[in-house]
Amino acid sequence: MCGIVGYIGTKKAYPILISGLSRLEYRGYDSAGISTIENDGLSLMKDKGRVKNLSNLDGIDNLEGTIGIAHTRWATHGKPSKENSHPHQDNSKTFSVVHNGIIENYNELRKFLENNGYTFYSQTDTEVIPNLIHYHFSKDDKNDNLKFLRAVKNACLELKGSFAIEVISILYPDNMIVVRQDSPLVIGTCEDEKYLSSDIPAILSYTRDFYLLNDLEFVVLTRNSAKFYDENLNEIKKETQTIEWNASAAEKDGFDDFMLKEIYEQPTAIRETIGAKINLDSKCEFDELGFTKEYLSSINKIYIVACGTAMHAGLSGKNAIEKLCKIPCEVDIASEFRYRDPIIDEKTLCIFISQSGETADTIAALKLSKEKGAKTLAISNVIGSSITREADYSIYTHAGPEIAVASTKAYTSQVVLINILAIYFAEILENSDMESLTKLKQDILDLPKKIEESLDCSDEIKKFAKQIYQEKDVFFLGRGIDETVAREGSLKLKEISYIHSESYAAGELKHGPIALIENGITVISILTNKDLVKKSVSNIQEVITRGAKTLVVTNQEIDRNMFDTVITIPETNCFISPILSIIPLQLLSYYISKEKGLDVDKPRNLAKSVTVE
Ligand code: GLU
Repeated sequence: MCGIVGYIGTKKAYPILISGLSRLEYRGYDSAGISTIENDGLSLMKDKGRVKNLSNLDGIDNLEGTIGIAHTRWATHGKPSKENSHPHQDNSKTFSVVHNGIIENYNELRKFLENNGYTFYSQTDTEVIPNLIHYHFSKDDKNDNLKFLRAVKNACLELKGSFAIEVISILYPDNMIVVRQDSPLVIGTCEDEKYLSSDIPAILSYTRDFYLLNDLEFVVLTRNSAKFYDENLNEIKKETQTIEWNASAAEKDGFDDFMLKEIYEQPTAIRETIGAKINLDSKCEFDELGFTKEYLSSINKIYIVACGTAMHAGLSGKNAIEKLCKIPCEVDIASEFRYRDPIIDEKTLCIFISQSGETADTIAALKLSKEKGAKTLAISNVIGSSITREADYSIYTHAGPEIAVASTKAYTSQVVLINILAIYFAEILENSDMESLTKLKQDILDLPKKIEESLDCSDEIKKFAKQIYQEKDVFFLGRGIDETVAREGSLKLKEISYIHSESYAAGELKHGPIALIENGITVISILTNKDLVKKSVSNIQEVITRGAKTLVVTNQEIDRNMFDTVITIPETNCFISPILSIIPLQLLSYYISKEKGLDVDKPRNLAKSVTVE
């Protein structure tokens, strides 16, 4: 995840670009750079580090150009360094490009370009783009006014993966070409100026009129025009949209609350967290880890330690670790783990999960594990946070900032990351069936689209929320991995709607809690496991008999008439099904909280980051 900014107009570009980058810095911040069109060629100023370093670069104040592109990077391919920072240029320095996203086929393209005489100076996937544009440009004999556009279009149609791209060229000092696929990019327009950005708030102070782009719409910008083309370069018409939001609504992207915005950001959060780690024809990659078969074979136990929602993510990941890696895995609550003298030694790998990376109990548990000689691995959403500084190894979810106290996108990102980690271990250990690993990888890659489908249940969920928002008690049931989702659904409901709720393994019902079931009580069940669906349906039947109102979240064929409301989610591998089945439950808590008129983003008594014991 990174931020890109662009400007073409009548003012000096560089101060506008730097100010836009500062507002986007939350999206990524390991390096930053800009390129403008000057009288003597394309300028290129970039360096490792924060955006503020850019303003100190020698010569930046001399830039006069009124057209330029800019980038703040969160590296996916190649470490943070000056060479890997964006913008990137082709070998002849004719084109400058910034890119947000991942080019999945960059290896093939790089080989192809190297065979055609191009040299590469960075480790990024992005560097293929300017060179590919140059390749197509130089092969094109026609010299009409679409030549620049044709080269960009031909290059982009060869790219696989996700990208938002801005291109400028010294040969076309009054043009900028932009396109996106699965990565964000908006264009703000005024009479003789165009502003580009990864999100609307960063440029809302300049204009309220925006063009919102669909995938693979190619745009040619001049100071006073924006022309849009489809993949065949037929011109298409596009209207501007006026954004009426005030500054605070803009931060929420037009959503009423951060929590709802963050629920809807999950396809992107998951896509960004998967990043370049999964390849179908090669092993999963975690540059930060570099574990060997010898080390992984020596592990006697994996502990996952966390608090609250992060602990639920750990519970959901346990299955994949045990089944794929054949290593026993225990999940523990950090505040318990730290005081119960756990049996761990140098053969134990302890994994700590914390969105903020500042959770006090989790940090204490990590320190204890280190003292006992275990290897420690941190999973956090915040680069440089305390747990990542303490741990031997760190990996990151790329969910972007999570502002609402109740965690949504951080949870699903944690679940996907643990699953990728389990595949990474299994591939090194070579003790799992490779075909099912490849199948699971494909299922992970399909998640962003399936999350979008799961979000379609919103209207039905809203209706159900209206029916039950005055309830005093709600029960959540599930078996196997669905039980972990029941726990997380129940926690969400408590956190933001203040309704008392209990989650139970469905089979436990008759060992006590069924005594609480009476006429009209709400029971919410998750059914995603084919092998257990009949058993769970029998449990739900028992509560229906006692008068319960039922909501079922499922991806299985069931007799829908039995239940009051059935929410269907897409089918997927059971290891990652929590990422889809939690979505209706997140929405349910949200809409119940709204019905009750509560402050969804800041529930009473809670803090986003629990930095005290
Ligand atoms: N994949 C590109 C890189 O690693 C872009 C990453 C980003 O979106 O910041 O340079």
